[in-house]
Amino acid sequence: MNSADGTPAALLEVRDLTASYGPFKAVFGVSFSVPGGRATALLGPNGAGKTTVARAISGLISPERGHIWFNGTDIAGQRAYRIARLGIAHATEGRSVFASLTVEENLSLAFRRNAKRAALAAKLASAYDLFPRLGERRSQLAGTLSGGEQRMLSLARVLVDPPKLLVVDELSLGLAPVIVSEVYEKLALIKTQGTTLLIIEQYVEQALKIADDAVVMNRGEVVYAGPPTTADELASHFLIGS
Ligand code: ATP
Repeated sequence: MNSADGTPAALLEVRDLTASYGPFKAVFGVSFSVPGGRATALLGPNGAGKTTVARAISGLISPERGHIWFNGTDIAGQRAYRIARLGIAHATEGRSVFASLTVEENLSLAFRRNAKRAALAAKLASAYDLFPRLGERRSQLAGTLSGGEQRMLSLARVLVDPPKLLVVDELSLGLAPVIVSEVYEKLALIKTQGTTLLIIEQYVEQALKIADDAVVMNRGEVVYAGPPTTADELASHFLIGS
């Protein structure tokens, strides 16, 4: 992580990361960089270890070994709330909503942390603009929303109030294709506004539309890091010899 050769220092540097679930090693010796202001697609087949890497970055699991440098600080093993305060948000595969609160209460809780009262109304309006369905259901309890609507609600919180680094895990899961395209447009927009993106995605084609760099994992290891060529070419890195 140096800029001595004139290249911009990466915002996130994962170095020699090893993480396990009990006796099972899910990722080992994973290293890659995510340059600031760009979008990196983290790709690979089911079980490759992509989500495990994302969890280690956002502090949901503690790695066994290795470093995760974010903006010059090694965040490996730090608590999730501290990592969030440094400016990393992780939109997980799941639907992390408060089931017993309404849509609007869920959004207000997320936005109030950073917003003054006047700004809160503007942020709510942006969320409803992004996902009109949420506006229609603003008074409904989040626990009674459909799976796709809960996913919209958890995404709205991070898309309207973008962090320094946004880690998005399987964004398209549970969303209709037309909504996936809209969310990708929003991701492209927040990238131009300075948010760095790490996108884990099963719809590789969609992710490659906005990716500046690609990292491919297979069986817990990085098998390719470089330009996002084509989906077929990238898939060949784990299909050959697997
Ligand atoms: P997918 O796209 O299917 O989510 P992935 O590339 O994100 O795949 P991970 O979810 O990181 O892969 O899983 C890597 C390995 O770790 C898999 O073999 C998986 O079974 C295992 N694993 C993941 N989560 C757990 C867990 N909570 N407990 C035990 N093993 C786990």
